[in-house]
Amino acid sequence: MATEPTATCEVSTTSATGDRVRRRFVVEGIVQGVGFRPFVHRLAGELRLTGTVLNFTGGVEIEVEGDPSAVAAFGAALLTEKPPLAVIETLTAEDLSPAGDTDFLILPSREAPGAPVSISPDIATCPDCLRELTDPADRRHRYPFTNCTNCGPRYTITRRIPYDRPNTSMAPFPMCPDCAREYHDITDRRYHAQPVACPRCGPTLRFTSREGQVLTADMALVGALKALRAGQIVAIKGLGGFHLACDATNEEAVRRLRERKRREEKPLAVMAGSLGEVRRFAVVEGEGEELLQSPAAPIVLAPKRLPEALAPSVAPGSPDYGVMLPYTPLHHLLFADGEFVALVMTSGNLSEEPLCTDNAEARLRLDGICDGFLDHDRDILIGCDDSVLRWTQRGAIPVRRARGYAPLPIRLARPVRPLLAVGGHLKNTVCLASGTNAVLSQHIGDLENEATLRHFAAIITHLQCVLQVAPQALACDRHPGYLSTQWACERADELGVPLVEVQHHHAHIVACMADNDYYDPVVGLACDGTGYGDDGTIWGCEVLWTSTGEARRLGHLRPIPLPGGDAAIREPWRVLGAYLREAYGEDFLETLPPAVTHPIPGDSWQVLSRMISRGLNSPLASSAGRLFDAVAALLGLCPRAAFEGQPAMALEALASAGADPYPYAAGWQGQELVLDPRPTLGAMVDEVNAGTPAAVVASRFHETFARTLRDAAVLACERTGLQTVALSGGTFQNRLLHERLCDLLDECGLRVLHHRRVPPNDGGLALGQAVVAEAQLDGI
Ligand code: ZN
Ligand code: ZN
Ligand code: FE
Repeated sequence: MATEPTATCEVSTTSATGDRVRRRFVVEGIVQGVGFRPFVHRLAGELRLTGTVLNFTGGVEIEVEGDPSAVAAFGAALLTEKPPLAVIETLTAEDLSPAGDTDFLILPSREAPGAPVSISPDIATCPDCLRELTDPADRRHRYPFTNCTNCGPRYTITRRIPYDRPNTSMAPFPMCPDCAREYHDITDRRYHAQPVACPRCGPTLRFTSREGQVLTADMALVGALKALRAGQIVAIKGLGGFHLACDATNEEAVRRLRERKRREEKPLAVMAGSLGEVRRFAVVEGEGEELLQSPAAPIVLAPKRLPEALAPSVAPGSPDYGVMLPYTPLHHLLFADGEFVALVMTSGNLSEEPLCTDNAEARLRLDGICDGFLDHDRDILIGCDDSVLRWTQRGAIPVRRARGYAPLPIRLARPVRPLLAVGGHLKNTVCLASGTNAVLSQHIGDLENEATLRHFAAIITHLQCVLQVAPQALACDRHPGYLSTQWACERADELGVPLVEVQHHHAHIVACMADNDYYDPVVGLACDGTGYGDDGTIWGCEVLWTSTGEARRLGHLRPIPLPGGDAAIREPWRVLGAYLREAYGEDFLETLPPAVTHPIPGDSWQVLSRMISRGLNSPLASSAGRLFDAVAALLGLCPRAAFEGQPAMALEALASAGADPYPYAAGWQGQELVLDPRPTLGAMVDEVNAGTPAAVVASRFHETFARTLRDAAVLACERTGLQTVALSGGTFQNRLLHERLCDLLDECGLRVLHHRRVPPNDGGLALGQAVVAEAQLDGI
């Protein structure tokens, strides 16, 4: 996700006659609302060039005239010295005849209806603003809404385009003369910075204490800090929504937050004042450090430093802490006195509901959870959660893509018609694509309740509004039970546009291809928890010959009956039972040590066995996620799961690299490549019975599964003649598996595509759906 598409620079080399030349540059990408014209103006001045610059829909057009070497230097500097937030996707240049201008002018914008628009994501406070914030002589000293062209809110305060103050939630704040002067001065850092504000004219901070006392401005901050110090929970309004905050070293406070939020086991994110503070409790280095300090300022999942320095309830059972650095002036002010090692900063909602964004709504929904509210009067127009990345030796894996990244477009190699892909069911995102721009929405959530479904609809409406795209086709998952699928069916009917239903794992692999800007056929390894298969069974560990328009199933994990269907996700012991019954028959219970069987009451195992033998509610599943669940259950880690993926997380937390593999089987059975985990499970049962430590078994299982997948990929490549393997699906959030499999495939001389900008989990599905939909509609 850290890597943006590289700019293509096509500069014509025709030399002009005479001692003056004129050249037109057209720059496309994210170049509006990021200080690009002032940058061009300053650069032209420095190089003594005359000419013009103007914004047009989709880019900036520049003409410069002057000394040939200065014009050449100008072209080079456009790429190398661009403002921090600018993303240049294409830069073209063309020589013109000199016109003899005497000045450099900024011309009025030229808007072409229907052309693609890009809006910048919200960006962390820049070093210049931070300096003003901490400078007692500056008029913005300690002002929590300080921002400039290089930082601050964008996407979440934009109601519609063009991106001008009246179209943002800064509309109710008329600029004071000082701010207006900065706004209109092309040499100022705040030239045309729409959210520009100061204590005189901008938003005001407010704190409401548990006792109902209301404090404003700097006193609000004092009040909030006092509450946090006392172990209270404070709801804090951020860029994309409210956080619930408390002292991350205060176990009692953290526990209370969990209870009130009804979030019993998932790890909680924390914020620390500086990188140095982060290092006190987590291991971050190299790219992990860069990510933390990047303008997107995401949550980075970084290994815990042991012994744990934060309260045990912050991230129980997880190998990592989710950490981030302050990304608004308000956050910086919270840490200014250095009294907190870290604050828990978890999204301000009840578990499973969307983030709170509105002051009144927050007071209603968060009332029972927090003790005080630290909010303000600048509205958040669309919610946007914190992004989450997992740092690995192979680069960062996006786990949740939202603030700081959405709505940055993914540039597509082939243009698509305007279309909307609605994603999956869990970790939903949507993708609105048009031309060569595919915009993946911020994380929306699990579409399991009314509130999230409303949030889903609101984000679609907002995206269509700010991107000015009206879809001419829809894409969705093939699962008839997904609410997103049902929504898409209804909407396609209403609009009278085609609907393309895309197989789940096909969408995963194509998302990975698009993420890597790679569009030739690949061997796809799609590993996740659950996806609707073409044969009506549950798929989740698939070897697919994949092109953008088609996926053919070459192989898969040997399926097992999943007794209880979805209930098996919450109760991994069921999956373990099913696996063992496959391997050992009816008497499978005798193979298990009491430590594994005892936590499960009385006759549950027998009931399970009968369900399978009678085929009662036991759909077939070939799911990698469920295999991890079974292994975790075998090690007694997680007989019951509070959320999908918890057992796999616990298993990974125990494992380390460099272990010997167990026996495994992956080979062709006729036309089908079958990955049979039975030899591996048998060996693990023996080890568990022999008292081998769980950490050893977990490590060896990871190594074995990586090799199983490697063999499957090699066999599939041999048969298809392909040399590129794409890895996608939620299972590849597993750092150990991801790193090891990439290494193994490298050793075989295969090219590996893995996710970099969009999540491998279902949060990336919509991108794949959009690309598949276009390919399939094209083929019709
Ligand atoms: Zn700034
Ligand atoms: Zn002002
Ligand atoms: Fe999936």
